[in-house]
Amino acid sequence: MLTRKITKKIYVGNVAIGGGEPVVIQSMTNTITQDINSTVRQIRSLARIGCEIIRVAVPDEDSVVTLKEIIKKSPIPVIADIHFDYKLAIGAIKQGVHGIRINPGNIKSKDKIREIINIAREFNTSIRIGVNSGSLDIDLKNKYKQNIHLGLVESAINYIKFFEDNNFTNLKVSLKSSDVITTILAYEKFSEISDYPLHLGITEAGTELPGTIRSSIGIGYLLLKGIGDTIRVSLTAPPAKEVIVAKEILKNVGMRNLGPILISCPTCARRDIDVILLAHKVEKLLSFVKSPIKVAVMGCAVNGPGEAMDADIGIAGSKEGGIIFKKGRVFKKIKQQEDLIKEFLKEIKNLDKEWRIKKEKTV
Ligand code: SF4
Repeated sequence: MLTRKITKKIYVGNVAIGGGEPVVIQSMTNTITQDINSTVRQIRSLARIGCEIIRVAVPDEDSVVTLKEIIKKSPIPVIADIHFDYKLAIGAIKQGVHGIRINPGNIKSKDKIREIINIAREFNTSIRIGVNSGSLDIDLKNKYKQNIHLGLVESAINYIKFFEDNNFTNLKVSLKSSDVITTILAYEKFSEISDYPLHLGITEAGTELPGTIRSSIGIGYLLLKGIGDTIRVSLTAPPAKEVIVAKEILKNVGMRNLGPILISCPTCARRDIDVILLAHKVEKLLSFVKSPIKVAVMGCAVNGPGEAMDADIGIAGSKEGGIIFKKGRVFKKIKQQEDLIKEFLKEIKNLDKEWRIKKEKTV
């Protein structure tokens, strides 16, 4: 059983972060923020597949102006991502964003940061302090050289102290690096000494496959150590992919019930069916399923059911056609491979329905 570090609880809009609440999935739009329709359309489609908080880049005054409409039309809380200009942070807060993300190191002037704090306090807007190895203060870089994770932690702690001295604690923190080990070490160290909620991510993780691997190792490792309250998988890919990967990470570390887990065999010379094609078909078909069932797609009926013994339901090719199995036992034999998917889908729908009924009874 996973033991989670219980951090302070804050809210981004109506979404609770920290304090033992479920780990929240975030993503970021890649539309031009000034294009309200495209941005809202993207937010809505990301929310439909499981994104719970969205971050929007605010690079200029025109983007600030459009925020109000975006927030009004967004089904999920909106965080404004501000880089260097403190006036954009202040403008975004006044437009009603639910949170802002700043790297105080980029803004530099303490007076300007204080102005952001004052307005965020007035509007009850949460702030993420996002420290990043790329923009770490030169003194800390020189101080820690080979142990840059300690520089990230010291930087975050210094900023927190400044925010606290200015009577502001509505904070969450991220300590990102594109290096997985540095990121892990930084979050672990920070978690030992602070109770502020943590936003996890591997920055500039890369294109879809390597980025997924880096993020899964970094975020997955930390979550399994009980660290982390919200996550974003950063990919050089459409943001929908970020949400899908984030959901898979959370499902596989056993932290959230976010629908089914699909397992499939790598195929070998024993296969009686095109497993690659079948697994992709089943993956698509599962998009409507809400229950946390484990679904298997296996190449042969000889080894498939045994290898996927822990699957709630599975499908395997056979010389005669195919089989559907449940918990390793043959449940139905199908003569024609063309009928396999149709029958399988029927049984998955039944399982999903049973789960929903059970869930309704327990609520
Ligand atoms: S289930 Fe059958 S086809 Fe798939 S890897 Fe195992 S033995 Fe090979």
